[in-house]
Amino acid sequence: MAIERTLAIVKPDATRKGVVGEAIRAAEEAGLTPVAIRRIHLTRAQAEGFYAVHRARPFFADLTAFMSEGPVVVMALEGPDAIATWRRLLGATDPGKAEEGTLRRRFGTNIQANGFHGSDGGETAAFEMGYFFAGLEIP
Ligand code: ADP
Ligand code: MG
Repeated sequence: MAIERTLAIVKPDATRKGVVGEAIRAAEEAGLTPVAIRRIHLTRAQAEGFYAVHRARPFFADLTAFMSEGPVVVMALEGPDAIATWRRLLGATDPGKAEEGTLRRRFGTNIQANGFHGSDGGETAAFEMGYFFAGLEIP
């Protein structure tokens, strides 16, 4: 298994619920190490920049409003197959359809406010980590 890095976000709904520690615990139990962490309240424009690939989707306006409604906790996670491993821990996009025991099932609110984000591939992970962390902040 390749050692990878991925970008994880505890979204505003889950940060408000106080489950940042649960996300870190799940990551660590799966062999993923948080190599960088920050808490940030995104502006609307910053949320739009992050989700630029979803610009054309019908839920873009609602999604970026939600992502900028309160602080998020952003982490770069490192470990074996980090990208797929973290997405497996998240479960399906819709918490109601996510597998039992996954983070979205346990702590998500609805299909939009689903608690957590995970990069979906290597290029996305590189873009997303660069969006939040300067080179010197990820050793
Ligand atoms: P994922 O985060 O599982 O990779 P997507 O990339 O398809 O899912 O969508 C990005 C985010 O947009 C989701 O995590 C969720 O917050 C939101 N979203 C996705 N689909 C919908 C939808 N049908 N209605 C509202 N929000 C959605
Ligand atoms: Mg996605």
